[in-house]
Amino acid sequence: MTFFHNLMTGLNSIPYQLKCVDCGHGYDPGEVPYVCPVCSEEQEPGRALLGVLEVDYDYERLAIEFDRDYLVGCALRGTRRYFPLLPLSDEKFLSPLLIGDTPLMAGERLGTHLGMTDLFMKDDSRNPAGSYKDRASVLVVAKALEMGAETVCTASTGNAATALACVCASQGVDCSVIVPESAPPAKLAQMLVYGAKVFPVRGNYDQAFDLSSEACQRLGWYNRNTAFNPYTIDGKRVAAFEIWEQLGQRAPDSVWIPTGDGVIIAGVAKGFRDLLGLGLIDKMPRMIAVQAAGSAALVNAFESGLKEPEPVEGASSVADSIVVEAPRNGILALREIRESQGWGVSVSDEEILSALALLGRLTGCFVEPSSAAAVAGLLKEREAGRVADDECAVLLLTGTGLKDIAAAQRAVMMPQSIEPNFQALEEVLA
Ligand SMILES: [Zn+2]
Repeated sequence: MTFFHNLMTGLNSIPYQLKCVDCGHGYDPGEVPYVCPVCSEEQEPGRALLGVLEVDYDYERLAIEFDRDYLVGCALRGTRRYFPLLPLSDEKFLSPLLIGDTPLMAGERLGTHLGMTDLFMKDDSRNPAGSYKDRASVLVVAKALEMGAETVCTASTGNAATALACVCASQGVDCSVIVPESAPPAKLAQMLVYGAKVFPVRGNYDQAFDLSSEACQRLGWYNRNTAFNPYTIDGKRVAAFEIWEQLGQRAPDSVWIPTGDGVIIAGVAKGFRDLLGLGLIDKMPRMIAVQAAGSAALVNAFESGLKEPEPVEGASSVADSIVVEAPRNGILALREIRESQGWGVSVSDEEILSALALLGRLTGCFVEPSSAAAVAGLLKEREAGRVADDECAVLLLTGTGLKDIAAAQRAVMMPQSIEPNFQALEEVLA
């Protein structure tokens, strides 16, 4: 296949290897496209992926191009701003869309409600396709173009597919996506408007994941599946660089992350670890995984001291974006949570919907249920006394509420309509 051939022929001017997070073996980027060929031999269907690869940088060489002085003189925004930290040979492969550079806002009224003085929200609903997943897609599509791949494919609960469709549309790359037919209609409409070939399946996300893997293998499509493609983790780490810069070049104490497959956790942790490697911070923030109670494989594994999550059969929640039976990046995510002294917390659908409305009321942020889960997790842990008043906590708001209006309607009370005259209004006000 042409693009694998291109991978093999020395595009690699950037100092990095792909390192297996299980066995530690390092591969040249042209040698292996996805997971570690040795560890993945043991892969069983329907379980966390074995042999996930992470981009492993030579920090001494990176530091030549990226330091505080570089940022002072850099007027670029979004993903492009961190180009010296990306595993790409040329900036021209990046989408012209502004991806990243999302606001980090002080959540003062929410902080007051929680009795916290240093609370922030990273609003990734502002990305072009409306979710954090744009960050993975921009790098994966850039790699696809660098290698000459013609079609990119992903499985998705909805957001990853819309993100991929959006970035592909901006660069004229063919996009095929496989999603559960139960994905929220707004997400399905969005990916179709971007011109993607959409294959809804009568099954869940885990089944879509397996089908897309088989399709990529048989049809020669480039596989964007989360965690399986190492650049999904690497693209997602850019948010950590932004948080660091937006906080005045410091790391927060904790990052609260809506968690399904565990790739955002791995990405954010990797970003801060890279900053640590570059000598730009001196401590890692705690990674707090927040899961829906009906889809809590990672939290269960964390609490039971397991190294690998046990799949949750029939996983379900109102927070569709984080519903997975087997967290694909579960092994690495658990390690990042533990090594950062973080933990996992699960929240019920009622707590999620109540947090969704609370967040809207106190901050002006309208998010989808998965993002509200992060807020619900912080509320719960704060009540349990596990979070200090002055903790510098960052809530990741990963997707816009406009993607799932049906869930938002469950979080609020729709008022009865009235006659259009003042008397009727007065009666209601009374
Ligand atoms: Zn390995």
